[in-house]
Amino acid sequence: MPFSGNPLDRASNQRRDADWLTSLHGGPQSRYLAFHRLNPLARRTDSIELLWLDADVLRHLAEDSQPFLLGIQDGVAHFAVDLSHLDDPVSELGLDEAEFTETRGAAARLPAGDVGIVAHGRALIEWHRRHRYCGVCGSLTEVRDGGSMRKCESCGQEHFPRTDPVVIMVVWTGDKCILGRQKAWAPGFHSALAGFIDQGETIEEAVAREVLEEVGLEVDHVEYHASQPWPFPSSLMIGCFAHATSDQETVDPVELESATWFTRDQIRAAYEDPRGQHGFNVPGSIAIAHHLIKDWAFQTTDDHTAV
Ligand SMILES: [Zn+2]
Repeated sequence: MPFSGNPLDRASNQRRDADWLTSLHGGPQSRYLAFHRLNPLARRTDSIELLWLDADVLRHLAEDSQPFLLGIQDGVAHFAVDLSHLDDPVSELGLDEAEFTETRGAAARLPAGDVGIVAHGRALIEWHRRHRYCGVCGSLTEVRDGGSMRKCESCGQEHFPRTDPVVIMVVWTGDKCILGRQKAWAPGFHSALAGFIDQGETIEEAVAREVLEEVGLEVDHVEYHASQPWPFPSSLMIGCFAHATSDQETVDPVELESATWFTRDQIRAAYEDPRGQHGFNVPGSIAIAHHLIKDWAFQTTDDHTAV
């Protein structure tokens, strides 16, 4: 699953030790992954790989910025740094054959573990950018634990990086499933229904509510299938299969332009021949929706009849 498989050890316990963190900062072995406006630095070659910098990059950080510890691999500390304040960081750092690469495009081309690291670094940098001030008293907060917490010294409140859970579901009955499309999407593009989990709600309850809101269908069985970190900016996609009690949908025009039932055969044909003329498109392979719809279509009906 793209954006999963981060190989770094987050060192959650060790990072509470300020002396240990200090020994890593600027250390000769430490490696730094730079982000510019949330895009990671990559080496420009025939293929693509992340370009890790040495401690020299620290001279270029903004005055109020600092590296965030992503984790440890083979005894080496790996940090994320934000260079968004620079207009042209590739030139200012004197880098050759390097570029800040758009995350979605890079996700389809980078090695799997690298994409997981990008997911963490991107979400973490964006969370720090949005949470400089305490939500309780409004004072400036300070980075703690290498970036896995911000503390307000004024009121004592601790703030932790947030992840927003989203349910995304293939809603099916019999041999067909319903996919939605939004007006802004490219012609023919369809995807699984999705929505944020509300407070005080289970995964299953969120699936049932979102399906009812978006297409007016009731579901009587929800089955968890897979999850995916989605760092735009900080979601966790929770993929499910949901069995609908009828196929009489009523589309909410605020949420969707339309919703359409597709048979397994139609969907299988679209995956087997992506360039063919099927009258609809499914999401690309970096999105969990791609895998969720595919897994539903290519499994036998028997796999999903336990209602
Ligand atoms: Zn405070």
